[in-house]
Amino acid sequence: MKLLLASRNAGKLREFSALLPELQFVLWPAEAPELPETGAFFQDNALQKAEGARAWWREHGTEAVDGVLADDSGLCVDALWGGPGVLSARFALDLPSYLERNRRLLAMLPGDADRRARFVCVLAFVPLAARLKGGPITVSGAVEGGLALEHRGENGFGYDPIFIPDGFDQTFGELPSSTKHTLSHRARACAALRECLPELHP
Ligand code: IMP
Repeated sequence: MKLLLASRNAGKLREFSALLPELQFVLWPAEAPELPETGAFFQDNALQKAEGARAWWREHGTEAVDGVLADDSGLCVDALWGGPGVLSARFALDLPSYLERNRRLLAMLPGDADRRARFVCVLAFVPLAARLKGGPITVSGAVEGGLALEHRGENGFGYDPIFIPDGFDQTFGELPSSTKHTLSHRARACAALRECLPELHP
Protein backbone atom coordinates (compact mmCIF):
# COMPACT_ATOMS: atom_id res chain seq x y z
CA MET A 1 0.00 0.00 0.00
CA LYS A 2 1.34 3.40 -0.95
CA LEU A 3 0.34 6.47 1.06
CA LEU A 4 0.95 10.16 0.61
CA LEU A 5 2.33 11.51 3.90
CA ALA A 6 0.91 14.99 4.43
CA SER A 7 4.02 16.31 6.18
CA ARG A 8 7.49 17.59 5.47
CA ASN A 9 8.69 16.80 9.00
CA ALA A 10 11.73 14.54 8.51
CA GLY A 11 11.45 13.24 12.10
CA LYS A 12 7.88 12.07 11.53
CA LEU A 13 8.78 10.45 8.21
CA ARG A 14 11.64 8.50 9.83
CA GLU A 15 9.28 7.27 12.51
CA PHE A 16 6.47 6.27 10.14
CA SER A 17 8.93 4.32 7.99
CA ALA A 18 10.05 2.39 11.10
CA LEU A 19 6.57 2.01 12.63
CA LEU A 20 4.72 1.03 9.45
CA PRO A 21 7.43 -0.75 7.43
CA GLU A 22 4.82 -2.53 5.30
CA LEU A 23 3.80 0.80 3.74
CA GLN A 24 5.49 2.90 1.11
CA PHE A 25 5.36 6.64 1.71
CA VAL A 26 5.31 9.41 -0.86
CA LEU A 27 6.46 12.68 0.65
CA TRP A 28 4.53 15.92 0.52
CA PRO A 29 6.35 17.57 -2.40
CA ALA A 30 8.42 20.72 -2.10
CA GLU A 31 6.27 22.52 -4.71
CA ALA A 32 3.03 21.77 -2.83
CA PRO A 33 1.50 24.47 -0.60
CA GLU A 34 1.83 24.48 3.18
CA LEU A 35 -1.12 22.60 4.59
CA PRO A 36 -3.24 24.78 6.89
CA GLU A 37 -3.76 23.60 10.48
CA THR A 38 -6.11 26.11 12.04
CA GLY A 39 -8.14 23.82 14.30
CA ALA A 40 -8.36 23.94 18.07
CA PHE A 41 -7.81 20.20 18.50
CA PHE A 42 -5.29 17.67 17.20
CA GLN A 43 -8.09 15.78 15.45
CA ASP A 44 -9.31 18.87 13.55
CA ASN A 45 -5.81 19.58 12.33
CA ALA A 46 -5.04 16.01 11.32
CA LEU A 47 -8.26 15.86 9.27
CA GLN A 48 -7.65 19.30 7.80
CA LYS A 49 -4.17 18.29 6.64
CA ALA A 50 -5.33 14.93 5.25
CA GLU A 51 -8.29 16.42 3.34
CA GLY A 52 -6.20 19.34 2.10
CA ALA A 53 -3.46 17.03 0.86
CA ARG A 54 -5.98 14.73 -0.85
CA ALA A 55 -7.62 17.66 -2.69
CA TRP A 56 -4.24 18.96 -3.87
CA TRP A 57 -3.00 15.51 -4.89
CA ARG A 58 -6.15 14.84 -6.97
CA GLU A 59 -5.26 17.90 -9.08
CA HIS A 60 -1.48 17.77 -9.08
CA GLY A 61 -0.37 14.30 -7.93
CA THR A 62 2.34 12.70 -10.02
CA GLU A 63 1.71 9.06 -9.07
CA ALA A 64 -1.10 6.85 -7.86
CA VAL A 65 -1.41 6.53 -4.09
CA ASP A 66 -3.94 4.53 -2.10
CA GLY A 67 -4.61 7.19 0.48
CA VAL A 68 -3.30 10.08 2.53
CA LEU A 69 -1.93 9.91 6.06
CA ALA A 70 -1.68 13.05 8.20
CA ASP A 71 -0.28 13.36 11.72
CA ASP A 72 -1.04 16.14 14.14
CA SER A 73 0.85 15.82 17.35
CA GLY A 74 2.41 17.75 20.17
CA LEU A 75 3.60 18.00 23.72
CA CYS A 76 1.00 18.86 26.38
CA VAL A 77 2.41 20.15 29.68
CA ASP A 78 0.08 20.25 32.70
CA ALA A 79 1.75 23.31 34.23
CA LEU A 80 1.18 25.16 30.93
CA TRP A 81 -2.54 24.25 30.82
CA GLY A 82 -1.86 21.65 28.14
CA GLY A 83 0.42 23.88 26.08
CA PRO A 84 2.13 24.09 23.73
CA GLY A 85 -0.27 21.30 22.62
CA VAL A 86 -1.67 21.91 19.12
CA LEU A 87 0.73 24.84 18.85
CA SER A 88 3.82 22.68 19.46
CA ALA A 89 5.20 23.20 15.94
CA ARG A 90 4.72 26.97 16.29
CA PHE A 91 6.15 27.47 19.79
CA ALA A 92 9.09 29.91 20.05
CA LEU A 93 9.72 30.09 16.32
CA ASP A 94 11.80 33.22 16.88
CA LEU A 95 14.49 30.83 18.14
CA PRO A 96 16.50 28.96 15.51
CA SER A 97 16.82 25.50 17.11
CA TYR A 98 14.95 23.00 19.25
CA LEU A 99 17.77 23.20 21.77
CA GLU A 100 16.86 26.85 22.38
CA ARG A 101 13.09 26.29 22.15
CA ASN A 102 13.32 23.45 24.64
CA ARG A 103 15.31 25.63 27.01
CA ARG A 104 12.69 28.37 26.75
CA LEU A 105 9.89 25.93 27.42
CA LEU A 106 11.67 24.58 30.50
CA ALA A 107 12.35 28.12 31.71
CA MET A 108 8.60 28.83 31.65
CA LEU A 109 8.09 26.35 34.50
CA PRO A 110 8.76 27.55 38.03
CA GLY A 111 11.16 25.31 39.97
CA ASP A 112 8.36 23.74 42.02
CA ALA A 113 5.97 23.26 39.08
CA ASP A 114 4.14 20.05 38.34
CA ARG A 115 6.28 18.57 35.51
CA ARG A 116 3.67 16.08 34.23
CA ALA A 117 3.38 16.07 30.47
CA ARG A 118 2.31 13.85 27.61
CA PHE A 119 2.91 13.52 23.92
CA VAL A 120 -0.28 13.16 21.88
CA CYS A 121 -0.61 12.04 18.27
CA VAL A 122 -3.73 11.97 16.12
CA LEU A 123 -3.53 10.30 12.72
CA ALA A 124 -6.04 10.91 9.97
CA PHE A 125 -6.27 8.54 7.02
CA VAL A 126 -8.33 9.43 3.95
CA PRO A 127 -8.62 6.99 1.05
CA LEU A 128 -7.79 7.92 -2.52
CA ALA A 129 -7.92 4.59 -4.36
CA ALA A 130 -11.43 3.74 -5.57
CA ARG A 131 -11.18 0.22 -4.08
CA LEU A 132 -10.90 1.70 -0.57
CA LYS A 133 -14.42 2.54 0.50
CA GLY A 134 -15.45 4.67 3.43
CA GLY A 135 -14.67 8.04 4.86
CA PRO A 136 -11.81 9.38 6.89
CA ILE A 137 -10.43 7.40 9.82
CA THR A 138 -8.89 9.06 12.85
CA VAL A 139 -6.97 7.30 15.61
CA SER A 140 -4.92 8.62 18.48
CA GLY A 141 -2.15 7.65 20.86
CA ALA A 142 -0.53 9.23 23.89
CA VAL A 143 2.46 8.61 26.14
CA GLU A 144 2.53 9.91 29.70
CA GLY A 145 5.66 11.25 31.32
CA GLY A 146 7.31 14.33 32.71
CA LEU A 147 9.63 17.12 31.74
CA ALA A 148 13.35 16.79 32.40
CA LEU A 149 15.17 19.60 34.16
CA GLU A 150 17.33 20.18 31.11
CA HIS A 151 17.66 19.27 27.41
CA ARG A 152 19.32 15.81 27.35
CA GLY A 153 20.29 13.67 24.36
CA GLU A 154 20.27 14.08 20.63
CA ASN A 155 18.06 11.21 19.46
CA GLY A 156 14.67 11.76 17.92
CA PHE A 157 13.48 15.27 17.12
CA GLY A 158 11.60 18.25 18.50
CA TYR A 159 10.83 17.98 22.21
CA ASP A 160 12.27 14.46 22.61
CA PRO A 161 15.31 15.65 24.63
CA ILE A 162 13.12 17.14 27.39
CA PHE A 163 10.52 14.38 27.73
CA ILE A 164 11.00 11.45 30.13
CA PRO A 165 8.40 8.73 29.54
CA ASP A 166 6.94 7.09 32.67
CA GLY A 167 9.02 4.12 33.81
CA PHE A 168 12.33 5.54 32.52
CA ASP A 169 15.02 7.92 33.79
CA GLN A 170 16.21 8.93 30.32
CA THR A 171 14.60 11.32 27.89
CA PHE A 172 13.41 10.26 24.45
CA GLY A 173 16.50 12.13 23.28
CA GLU A 174 18.69 9.67 25.23
CA LEU A 175 16.70 6.47 24.71
CA PRO A 176 17.29 4.54 21.49
CA SER A 177 14.61 5.03 18.85
CA SER A 178 13.79 1.32 19.17
CA THR A 179 12.62 2.00 22.74
CA LYS A 180 10.65 5.10 21.74
CA HIS A 181 8.93 3.01 19.08
CA THR A 182 7.60 0.53 21.66
CA LEU A 183 5.68 3.13 23.65
CA SER A 184 5.44 6.49 21.92
CA HIS A 185 2.26 8.39 21.12
CA ARG A 186 2.97 7.83 17.40
CA ALA A 187 3.62 4.09 17.88
CA ARG A 188 0.32 3.73 19.74
CA ALA A 189 -1.58 5.68 17.09
CA CYS A 190 0.02 3.52 14.35
CA ALA A 191 -1.04 0.37 16.22
CA ALA A 192 -4.60 1.72 16.37
CA LEU A 193 -4.48 2.53 12.65
CA ARG A 194 -3.48 -1.07 11.89
CA GLU A 195 -6.55 -2.26 13.78
CA CYS A 196 -8.80 -0.06 11.65
CA LEU A 197 -7.26 -0.75 8.28
CA PRO A 198 -7.01 -4.46 7.52
CA GLU A 199 -5.04 -3.60 4.38
CA LEU A 200 -2.22 -2.38 6.57
CA HIS A 201 -1.58 -5.73 8.23
CA PRO A 202 1.87 -7.01 7.26
P1 IMP B 1 2.45 19.33 13.80
O1 IMP B 1 1.84 17.99 14.04
O2 IMP B 1 2.90 19.53 12.40
O3 IMP B 1 1.59 20.45 14.31
O4 IMP B 1 3.82 19.39 14.60
C1 IMP B 1 3.96 18.69 15.79
C2 IMP B 1 5.13 19.24 16.59
O5 IMP B 1 5.04 18.62 17.87
C3 IMP B 1 6.47 18.86 16.01
O6 IMP B 1 6.98 19.83 15.17
C4 IMP B 1 7.30 18.70 17.27
O7 IMP B 1 7.71 19.96 17.71
C5 IMP B 1 6.30 18.18 18.27
N1 IMP B 1 6.30 16.70 18.29
C6 IMP B 1 5.34 15.87 17.81
N2 IMP B 1 5.71 14.59 17.96
C7 IMP B 1 6.92 14.62 18.52
C8 IMP B 1 7.82 13.60 18.90
O8 IMP B 1 7.61 12.40 18.71
N3 IMP B 1 8.96 14.02 19.46
C9 IMP B 1 9.25 15.34 19.68
N4 IMP B 1 8.46 16.33 19.33
C10 IMP B 1 7.29 15.97 18.74
